[in-house]
This record gives sequence, C-alpha cells and structure tokens, in this order.
Amino acid sequence: MKKFFAAIISALILTTAVAFAGGPPQYDTPYIGNTLRGTFHYRDCVSVWEMWVEHQYPLNSVEEAYQKGFNPCKNCRPDIPRP
Ligand SMILES: [Zn+2]
Repeated sequence: MKKFFAAIISALILTTAVAFAGGPPQYDTPYIGNTLRGTFHYRDCVSVWEMWVEHQYPLNSVEEAYQKGFNPCKNCRPDIPRP
C-alpha cells in the first residue's frame, strides 16, 4: 500500500513538473525553435513538449531557423527533409 501511494505522489509531481515546464507547441509553424538552447525542432518532437512556453520560437522554414542562428535538434533532425 505504501508503494501505491508513493507511485501516485511521484506521478502527481511528474505531471505538475510537466505542466509548469512545458506543453504542446504554442505555434502552428512546422518548426519550433528553443531560444534557451539555440536549437530548433519539428513541432512534433518530444523536446518541444519539454520546452518552456517562453522559450518556444515559431519558425516557418529550416532556412529561417539557420538565419536566426538556431541549430538542428539531433533527435528529430529537422535539417533532414521528411519523405
Ligand atoms: Zn527535436
């Protein structure tokens, strides 16, 4: 029973942390930049959800991302066009 409560409490802490730290992409653009880390992502990259809303930056193209000084994410690879 103790374990059960511990699991519920850690789940609560986790959801609260996610709620304060990030959320869904705030913009409709195909790419989202991270102004804190200087990286940019496909809007469906998990990193966008972990990103603070304040750090999200809308990007319409890879060219625009490079112009603004963002580097491509190494996980979702927005620099490689999707088929
Ligand atoms: Zn990414």
